[in-house]
Amino acid sequence: MRASRFHLATLKETPVDAEIISHQLMLRAGMIRRHAAGIYSWLPLGLRILRKVEQIIREEMDRAGALELLMPSFQPAELWQESGRWDQFGPELLRLQDRHHRDACIGPTHEEIVTDIFRREVNSYRQLPLNFYQIQTKFRDEIRPRFGVMRSREFIMKDAYSFDIDNDGMQRSYDIMDQAYINIFNRFGLDYRAVSADSGAIGGSTSQEFHVLADSGEDAIAFSEQGDFAANIETVEALPPRTERSVASAEMQTVDTPGMYTIEDLANGLDVSAQQCMKTLIVEAEDGGLVALVLRGDHELNALKAERLDGVASPLRLAQREQITATLGSDIGSIGPVGLKLKTIVDHSAAVVGDFVCGANQDDKHYINANWGRDCEEPVTADIRNVIDGDPDPDGTGQLKILRGIEVGHIFQLGQKYSESMQAAVLDENGKGVAPFMGCYGIGVTRVVAAAIEQNHDAQGIIWPAALAPFQLAICPINYHKSEVVKQATDDLYQQCLARGLEVLLDDRALRPGVIFSDMELIGIPHRIVLSERGITAQQFEYKGRSDDSAQEFPLD
Ligand code: ATP
Ligand code: MG
Repeated sequence: MRASRFHLATLKETPVDAEIISHQLMLRAGMIRRHAAGIYSWLPLGLRILRKVEQIIREEMDRAGALELLMPSFQPAELWQESGRWDQFGPELLRLQDRHHRDACIGPTHEEIVTDIFRREVNSYRQLPLNFYQIQTKFRDEIRPRFGVMRSREFIMKDAYSFDIDNDGMQRSYDIMDQAYINIFNRFGLDYRAVSADSGAIGGSTSQEFHVLADSGEDAIAFSEQGDFAANIETVEALPPRTERSVASAEMQTVDTPGMYTIEDLANGLDVSAQQCMKTLIVEAEDGGLVALVLRGDHELNALKAERLDGVASPLRLAQREQITATLGSDIGSIGPVGLKLKTIVDHSAAVVGDFVCGANQDDKHYINANWGRDCEEPVTADIRNVIDGDPDPDGTGQLKILRGIEVGHIFQLGQKYSESMQAAVLDENGKGVAPFMGCYGIGVTRVVAAAIEQNHDAQGIIWPAALAPFQLAICPINYHKSEVVKQATDDLYQQCLARGLEVLLDDRALRPGVIFSDMELIGIPHRIVLSERGITAQQFEYKGRSDDSAQEFPLD
């Protein structure tokens, strides 16, 4: 490809509305352009990378025996009513009506459609196992689209659905997909981890997520430093501390704490550690009332654990400020467990702290030296927090380490949820109708591109892993338009590279070498060759790998 004929649309300035590096670099490199919140076009450069990702996925899915098909984005409501998800799905599901006032949605996922296909096409156990996949556009009306294509509203997913006659078969299909995912992510050349995960509302027992490790990742994942344990932090049990509660050493006192609303304000203002402060969160109860959840100041609430507690509304909802003030008579920043007239659940770790600091349930006042059992009731305890670095791992043998990850893939065992609700039976060996056991397997194709950049960049721009690079080689002539010698040698080299099947970008634009070099670095091409008149006279060219410190000379031949 000649750069003069390619739409290289690089930008010098960092776009102000792009918060994370991958989003900034995708815009600056001219890979994507935004039209509305979470809605993007892929320009020719970006599309080349997207196609590489798709191709690797396609090859490995085919190799694993899955069959590619293509399902519609526009999905009739009837199918979603059959599965029961028409009513279950919230505003993430984009609903619409056609000109005949028939309800429909733009598919956020395709379990309903694929089950509809299955029940029409397949009727015997002899046709199983079966795995259908597609690479297709999804729409989810995300509440907060952000980070460019990392969390967009329209995005491309590879989704696969397996069908088996029994649970063992489903397990085998799942294992085959697990291995296919390992092959796919290895081929991308990214640093990733497979971790066990929550199956969410979809149900089913086993589920694994694939995460690309990156500091900007939205998910936290916990690894055992000694063992094999790895899981999304959402699902990891925090073991109760082995230590006894510390004994009270002083009388409880009220202190004035104007302007101190956060744990950090309090810890600084009163010169205590965050561990010594109680964080009291008020959430909605199932019956419309409120429930208090108390954590150590340095711990974070785990929403999945909290919403499973008796009496707490699921999905978890933090109470509105007005409702808190109306019910409790003081503002959020001053709530605490002493004298609180609400059902209160205390995290195991918070329950062993003595002489703690907590809100006094009066504006701008806190207690110091408060103690469980003495100044308030013996706590009802539960595990409601996220694990942190250094916590024991769940089998109690080692320590956990927390890293950040970007979820790029998710594999689930669905069981018979959709095949039963949508009556997709096949005949078994005895001629009896059986609802097949399903699995579903997603990869965020567009998200993979952003995640790859998040993990591979420097101050100059993107550093593509070889398998994803839009071009392998950049040929950068100096004075291409002025020197016949340079033009001749460059065109020769370009033709030879093409003949060998290399993906080359020849930068024949009439620009200063500095501009050309910085563009090639920004868009992340792994290898660069520079041809100059001086070099050609000396029968040499200059080579630099994208992450090399300096260029090297090589003989032209
Ligand atoms: P998340 O927790 O990030 O919202 P999810 O659990 O909703 O993801 P799945 O329904 O399992 O995601 O979808 C499969 C894959 O699609 C995800 O692993 C992710 O890589 C990708 N994906 C999901 N939502 C988006 C989005 N809004 N933008 C881009 N990719 C997405
Ligand atoms: Mg989601």
